[in-house]
Amino acid sequence: MLSGQATRVARATVRNCFSSPVQATRSYAVASSAAFSAVPSNHAHKVVVIGGGAAGLSVSHQLLRSGQFSQGDIAVIDPSTWHHYQPGWTLVGGGLKDKNDLRKPLAKLIDPKLKFHNDAVATFNPGDNSVTLRSGDKVMYEQLIVAPGIHVKYDSIKGLPEALADEAGLVSTIYGYDTCDKLARSVNQLKRGTAIFTQPSGIVKCAGAPQKAMWLAYDKWARAGLLRRGDRDASPIKISFATGLPVMFGVPKYSAKLEDLRRQRGVEGLFQHDLVEINGNEAVFAAPGGEKVTRHFDLLHAVPKMGPHQFVAQSPLANEVGLVDVDDATMQHKKYPNVWSLGDASSLPTSKTAAAITSQAPILVSNIMQMIDAKGKPLASYDGYTSCPITTSYGKVLLAEFVYGGKPKETFGKWIGIDQATPRRPFYYLKKDFFPWVYYKFMMKGQWAGPNGFNTRI
Ligand SMILES: Cc1cc2nc3c(=O)[nH]c(=O)nc-3n(C[C@H](O)[C@H](O)[C@H](O)COP(=O)(O)OP(=O)(O)OC[C@H]3O[C@@H](n4cnc5c(N)ncnc54)[C@H](O)[C@@H]3O)c2cc1C
Repeated sequence: MLSGQATRVARATVRNCFSSPVQATRSYAVASSAAFSAVPSNHAHKVVVIGGGAAGLSVSHQLLRSGQFSQGDIAVIDPSTWHHYQPGWTLVGGGLKDKNDLRKPLAKLIDPKLKFHNDAVATFNPGDNSVTLRSGDKVMYEQLIVAPGIHVKYDSIKGLPEALADEAGLVSTIYGYDTCDKLARSVNQLKRGTAIFTQPSGIVKCAGAPQKAMWLAYDKWARAGLLRRGDRDASPIKISFATGLPVMFGVPKYSAKLEDLRRQRGVEGLFQHDLVEINGNEAVFAAPGGEKVTRHFDLLHAVPKMGPHQFVAQSPLANEVGLVDVDDATMQHKKYPNVWSLGDASSLPTSKTAAAITSQAPILVSNIMQMIDAKGKPLASYDGYTSCPITTSYGKVLLAEFVYGGKPKETFGKWIGIDQATPRRPFYYLKKDFFPWVYYKFMMKGQWAGPNGFNTRI
């Protein structure tokens, strides 16, 4: 979350840097005339945004709302037909939402004043301020915002694609539109046996989501009498959580609470166990010391490894792990000052969530405006805010909110003095109803700044 002061700085910067619109227009025009003459005018833009996901749409509409850009000045490049509200896939896995209600045609979410290139970026050419599309077309930019998210690597687990495609089997993942509803069906089908829920080591979108899926399944089975709370041996269904991490969650405060819950509920913890193979009803894990551990399952919720897209990882913009190499505070590229990144594709060392983007986008917009108009240094600074609403049962959510270094920064703790590590009913309704609503109604239009509320000024 931005502090009140940082928010004011960010907003003031946006206002100030456009105190002289004439000057701003002139700075664009100088750069435009020389560099852009070689490409068609609808392929040359003041700002090009790669990706029309949570980050790309937030930031492009916030830029537009500054009032300083004309028709076609800003372009969004994305090959997709659909935009998905991915945080809702956990709710689909829990049988709480219909996945069709969580996606919208991407073209309809993009303001007509933005130019939409419905194509994929194939390569970056930061030397001449352009990107090349899959079609072969070149698109020129003065400022580039890179937000194509990350890639879910289904083939990182041997046998997973085949197991997911088998409609009769009880192997699923909430990490994809096609398979998120299979978890709800599988949970309803299982009446007895072993259920394993996995989480990989490495980069994961919303690192709490793998266990959210588990806790909802736990609660459903417990309510159906298939699980005796805390008495694993007497339960018809036995649950194991196999995670590549050494702990339940990356932030000690919330991890301690979730570890207590795991023990109370009789869920087996297989720590530092990374799922590598599915073979029939056997799951094979890479365990500490190079050991391979094989476990029988009757139901498996598998989370594949994730990583940067190849076109980013192989580009000059990438850091050593393939993410866009930006400054942790300003989101400006470390080598190319007119390149920026936010969201999952960025190197920002925080948990990859849509909630993080609500904090990142206004700061990035503020800084890019500062660069465009005043040609000054970026001023606003991102503190790493991110959030993870962990469904611990039907009706309760633990609302983790933290900044860089795993330091809790709790909105409701600050406002009304409550401890957000305690699962609560109001947080459940935030997760289930409010966040999906505010996402499409305001965030995708550039009007929602997360804990800072409605972002009506930028
Ligand atoms: C199961 C699950 C649960 C989650 N739970 C939560 C939660 O509870 N709370 C929360 O805040 N977050 C949650 N998240 C994380 C959140 O959805 C992501 O962090 C967020 O969507 C990232 O936004 P993004 O714009 O960076 O990437 P995305 O939203 O993934 O968008 C990337 C866009 O880039 C486009 N693209 C890809 N390749 C190219 C290319 N070559 N050229 C141009 N465009 C390209 C894609 O088509 C896509 O539209 C969850 C995610 C999942 C999967």
